[in-house]
Parts: sequence; structure tokens; C-alpha cells
Amino acid sequence: MPAVRARAFRDRLLRWSRRNGRDLPWRRTRDPYRVLVSEVMLQQTPVARVVPAYERFLDRFPSLRALARARLGDVLVEWTGLGYPRRARDLHRAAVAARGRLPRTVAGLDALPGVGPYTSGAVACFSHGARVAFADTNVRRALGRVFLGRTATEREAVAIDEAVMPRADPAGWHHALMDLGATVCVARAPRCDACPVYDACAAKGADPVPAVRRQAAFATSDRRVRGRVMRILTAERRVTLRSLRARVADSRVPRLVGDLAAEGLLVVRRGVVALP
Ligand code: SF4
Repeated sequence: MPAVRARAFRDRLLRWSRRNGRDLPWRRTRDPYRVLVSEVMLQQTPVARVVPAYERFLDRFPSLRALARARLGDVLVEWTGLGYPRRARDLHRAAVAARGRLPRTVAGLDALPGVGPYTSGAVACFSHGARVAFADTNVRRALGRVFLGRTATEREAVAIDEAVMPRADPAGWHHALMDLGATVCVARAPRCDACPVYDACAAKGADPVPAVRRQAAFATSDRRVRGRVMRILTAERRVTLRSLRARVADSRVPRLVGDLAAEGLLVVRRGVVALP
């Protein structure tokens, strides 16, 4: 990658970010626990829904120790509205495994249950200023379009990030990249006319948006039924399987309750389904 192009991209992006960076609650802290909570929530939930949930969650579980001490059922109740409750389970497991203090290094974070390379990189960077490359969906899209003319794979984006990341302030750098992908270089109809890195971009809006991959209808509706079961349980904490079947009115309820129990998200005993 020509150094001149990388430098032009970096300078323009950082200049733009100073005026246009988003002020988000998790950017006002370097507490690794708070950063971890935000990163796990942001994995599959839009920012607008994460903001109120993040504040609420931290009111309830203000520290890593508080989360580790909590019952998983209480954590799942606080997770309501965010979807994909396995994330709450993994966050809880990570808190228990960390024994009161999150590791500082990427490798140490990565070794916690349910914490992958992206999250460990983001927490090390945003909490401790580690100069580590990582890429979420927004970063893959923005870096890929600029340097490859198309959305990059995670591996490609991490390699580009490593090559163009400035020496100073890696946290500010990654916030800027995320903001570019989330507010300007969006998936459909990127705002190229308002883009600070237009001159350096290989795609200039020409990245073909891949056809939306339709998940198998069955899997999609499985998820809907699971969601309905979890909503009832987080509201009421325990119900009989018979009542659950009647209220959800779907023949898959017994199988999906079995799956949720196997994942540790529910407990089933003598015909009663409860939060763990
Ligand atoms: S010019 Fe368009 S495609 Fe390129 S980075 Fe900017 S918004 Fe994205």
C-alpha cells in the first residue's frame, strides 16, 4: 500500500473525526468492564438501542464483581430488548472467569469464555490504549472500500488497519473508522458526496451491495419462537411448559426450550421452565 495514500487517508479521516466523532456513553470511560459491556452489546444490536440498555445494565451491575455475583437469570432480565441472549450468558461467564479483574492483554482477554479476537482487541485498545488492529462490520466496509474497492473480509481489514493505523491514539483512530462506516460509508447508499476520504477511495460508491442473504425461513422463525419464549421467561421468571406451549402456540416450543436449556439460558424441572 503506497505510504502517501495511507497518510492522506489517515490525515483526512482524523481531521474529519475531530468535528464529527459521535459522543457515545462508552467513549467517556476507560473502565475495561464498561468497555467490555458496550462491545458485547454492540455486536448484534444497533447503537440507538444499546445506549439506554447500557446505562440500565450498568446501574444494575456497576462492576465486574457485581456482574460475577449476579444470578444469570437477573442478567438475562436486564438484557431484555437486546436480543441474542447468549451474549448475556457469555458476558456473565467472562465476569465469573475473570475473578474480579479483566486481563490487560489481548491474549488474556481472548482467553475468557465468549470473548473473541474483535472484542479483546477493542477492549485492550479502548481501555488501555493498546495499538492493536481489529475490525467490526463498519470498519470492514469502510477500509475495504477505500483500499480494495469493496467490503473487506475481517482478515483483510485487520491487515489494512495494521498498515494504516497511526502511532498515537489508537482508540481515537478506531472510533474515527467506526464513525466513518456507521455514518458516511454506510452499507446502502454511502454518502460519498459528504465523505472526507473521497479522494483516497477506490470504490467511490461503486461497491456492489451483496444481495441480502436470506436465512432459511425455518431458522428465522426458530429465532422468533426462541425470542418469544425468552420474553415470557424474563417477564415472569418461571412458567409451566404447558402454559408456555399454549401461549406461544407453536409445536416447536418443547424442542426449542430443550435447546435453550442446553445452552444454559433456561432450566427445566418437572414440567416447570425457569430462568437459571
Ligand atoms: S467515497 Fe463513498 S465508498 Fe468511499 S469511503 Fe467514502 S462513502 Fe465510502
